[in-house]
Amino acid sequence: MTARKRKMTLVVLSVSVLVAFALACKMIGRENRASSEAAGPVVVDPGEIGRPPSDAVVLFDGHDLSQWRDAGHWVVKDGTVTVGAGYGGITTKRAFGDCQLHLEWATPSIVEGSGQARGNSGVYLQERYEIQVLDSFQNQTYPDGMAGAVYGQYAPLVNASRKPGEWQSYDIVFKAPRFDSQGKLVEPAFVTVLYNGILVQNHVEIKGDTGGDTLSYTPHPAKMPLHLQDHGCPVRYRNIWIREL
Ligand code: MG
Repeated sequence: MTARKRKMTLVVLSVSVLVAFALACKMIGRENRASSEAAGPVVVDPGEIGRPPSDAVVLFDGHDLSQWRDAGHWVVKDGTVTVGAGYGGITTKRAFGDCQLHLEWATPSIVEGSGQARGNSGVYLQERYEIQVLDSFQNQTYPDGMAGAVYGQYAPLVNASRKPGEWQSYDIVFKAPRFDSQGKLVEPAFVTVLYNGILVQNHVEIKGDTGGDTLSYTPHPAKMPLHLQDHGCPVRYRNIWIREL
C-alpha cells in the first residue's frame, strides 16, 4: 500500500469511528429522555360514557345536593334536580379556579313564555361569568342571550339546541382571570364551550362580569364557587362534575 492510500484509509476509518460515536451518543440521549419521561402524564380512568372520570369532583350524582348551599327549595327526584323557581340559585360549597365542567340540563317539555322567559337558567362560573341556559329551540331572542352564549358577550357559534324537555349537555373549559395583589386585572378569563358535543365558544376572552350594563371585571379570589341560576323557570339538571386544572 502506498503512503497516499494508507492516509486515505486512515481518514475513512476516522470518519467512520466519529459517525458511529455520534450515533451511539444520540441513542443514549434518547434512552435517557425516555426513562425520565417514563412516568408520563397522570393516569385518569375516563369511566363509562356518561359517567364522571376518576379525578372529577362530583357535584351532583342524582341523589343529593350536599355539595351545594342554599339548595332547600331545589327538588331532587329521579336522578335530577329542578330549579326551585322563585327561591334563588344554588352555589357550590367548594371554590374552583381553572376547571373543566360537565353538566346536563333540560328545559320544561311544556313550553311556556318566549324569548328570555322560556326555560331560562344559567351556569355562573366563579359566581359571575354566565354561560346561558335557555330553551333556544325555535325561540327568538338576542343572539348573545341564547343557550351556549357567554351572556351579553358572545353568541354561540351555532344553535345546537335539542327540543324542549330533551337533555342537553355542556362541557366547559374555563381559565380563570388573574388579578394582582392590588386587584388589577393581569390576565382575563377564557372559556371554551361544547354544547351537545358541538363547539359553540372557542377559547373566547371574557370581557368582565356578565349581565351588567358595562363590561368590566370585579376583582375576586383565584378560586370562587360555581352557581346555578334561578330565573323563575323549572329547568332540570343532572350529572354535574368538575375537574380542577
Ligand atoms: Mg340565564
